[in-house]
Amino acid sequence: MKILEGTGVSPGIGIAPAYIVERGEIVIDEEFIAPEKVVGEIERFRASILKSKEQLARLQASVAKAMGDDTAGIIEAQLMLASDVSVIDETEKIIKKKLLTAESAFDIVLQRNIEALQAIEDALMADRVHDLRDIRKRVLINLLELSHHTIHEVPEDRILVIQHLAPSETAHLFHNKFVGIALEMGGTTSHVAIMTRTMEIPCVLGLDGITEHIPSGKRVIIDGTNGKVIIDPDEKVLAEYRALKNAREKRREWIDRFIDKPAVTKDGHKLLVGANMELPEEVESVLKYRSDGVGLFRTELIYTDTKNLPDEEKQTRIYQTLADKIAPKSAIIRTFDIGGDKFTEILGKTFEQNPFLGWRAIRIGLSKPWILKTQLRAILRAAYKRNIKIMFPMISNIDEVKQAIGLIEESREELHNKGIPCSDNLEVGVMIEIPSAALLAREIAKKVDFFSIGTNDLIQYTLAVDRGNQYVRNLYQSYNPAVLKLVNHTIKQAHAGGIWCGICGELAADPRATIMLAGMGIDEMSVNPPSVPKIKGVIRSITIKDARRVAEECLHFSTQDEVLGYLNNMARELLPEEFFDGYTCCADRRKTKRGGSKSR
Ligand code: PEP
Ligand code: MG
Repeated sequence: MKILEGTGVSPGIGIAPAYIVERGEIVIDEEFIAPEKVVGEIERFRASILKSKEQLARLQASVAKAMGDDTAGIIEAQLMLASDVSVIDETEKIIKKKLLTAESAFDIVLQRNIEALQAIEDALMADRVHDLRDIRKRVLINLLELSHHTIHEVPEDRILVIQHLAPSETAHLFHNKFVGIALEMGGTTSHVAIMTRTMEIPCVLGLDGITEHIPSGKRVIIDGTNGKVIIDPDEKVLAEYRALKNAREKRREWIDRFIDKPAVTKDGHKLLVGANMELPEEVESVLKYRSDGVGLFRTELIYTDTKNLPDEEKQTRIYQTLADKIAPKSAIIRTFDIGGDKFTEILGKTFEQNPFLGWRAIRIGLSKPWILKTQLRAILRAAYKRNIKIMFPMISNIDEVKQAIGLIEESREELHNKGIPCSDNLEVGVMIEIPSAALLAREIAKKVDFFSIGTNDLIQYTLAVDRGNQYVRNLYQSYNPAVLKLVNHTIKQAHAGGIWCGICGELAADPRATIMLAGMGIDEMSVNPPSVPKIKGVIRSITIKDARRVAEECLHFSTQDEVLGYLNNMARELLPEEFFDGYTCCADRRKTKRGGSKSR
């Protein structure tokens, strides 16, 4: 038995065999064979090509079933590459002439092709290089008899062990319910962490060299609440964790009593608790946990198909279906937040020195207005006689707000000119997730109908800490007083400007933050769907008077530790302990005593 410590980012306990997905580079050294081995080597090579083609055909069918033909189409290019006669002939020639192993010969041919394509600067070529690299790896894995390297091939009911997950892959988490996930890379508000919380898959990340520590097939426990991975547990530990899992399920049942209750404090102050979602399919979870509408619909995953941008009709249907399903409650649709760590390849951009400070979200939309306007027209059409609001991400100055609103007006006019029905009066909001926008909140409030504070980014931009980088995880302080002052300032300036203010960053799902944010005057909190009943329950357990006192006090501290020390005490005083089984959204690993020791 071996215990590894990482960061728990999605609570809960998963027990199952591990499945390792190898992401490391495969390096092939030139290796020679005796002349009499040539025929056998060529056969081995042909068998690996055949096996790769069979795997790809299966993969294509399963992706088509789960995610549609558009996404599955991406695999077609790889199938064609696997059948490329010139590559096969060339490899076999090298095996014969140079007496090299199949791995060495195939690697020489593929590396040559990759270098030739890399010399051409073109977005389409970048896609082909990616495909070539992938097919190189697949064939080499088959030749070397290693494990697979795409998560689509992992069987159900396993613990996925992998170095990192690309945002485009996280959609697959919805279709293959892994029992748990152990990752090397990522931060508490990285895309993968957010998705695992929504899917209720226990997840631990920040585990150095994890794919080398666990043999595939070994039984593993993922403790996403305490950030532990237990490899090959003995019977005693297994029994302990099974008991913990049961206790957790009981607590969950207790919390679910708040599902149908409104979020009203004991002294009658009403708040809204919305849900965050990013895949259209997640609406089922939003309905299950009965949020007060959708406070954030991240639309990036609609753009995962790297070959084509989603057209207006497709998007209109997606937004209409969502709004119809959650009616009469409202859905806030955020325009695409591509960039940073999400899907830049779709726009032909392959490299940026500092992607989180670069061409992201509204910046892309304003520099390529035809792409943003396609989305705006779709939202305006869907909003016709439906309860939809629109929200722009990554606003850093007033000019961007004016230009974005200008594009809504242009899009509306285009629809009117074509006689297509659309909304003439939907609410327009912006995310406050860059410090400059928080500081300019008063001015921005004059231009829009609402704010939603994106603390995931506000924290990273205020503290200059990459939210997905495990090396600086401890510096990503959700309760840093600088962040709290910006949040408080934004709420106050929104109200002074006569508009409402929500929050949709992960911070809102931490019960301690719920008390503080309510006290600061937040109007709406939007959280991952499974956390909705918990946040409603927290609001129902406090008075707004106490919450205001807590918020006021929090603003007087000068370090995160002081804030958390105080908030932990207040939460213990004000809330039943059932609320504390979740993850924490910051690097706070202190223990608290109350009927035993547990981590918050
Ligand atoms: C945020 O930044 O807090 C947010 C909700 O948006 P995202 O996580 O998609 O960047
Ligand atoms: Mg953000």
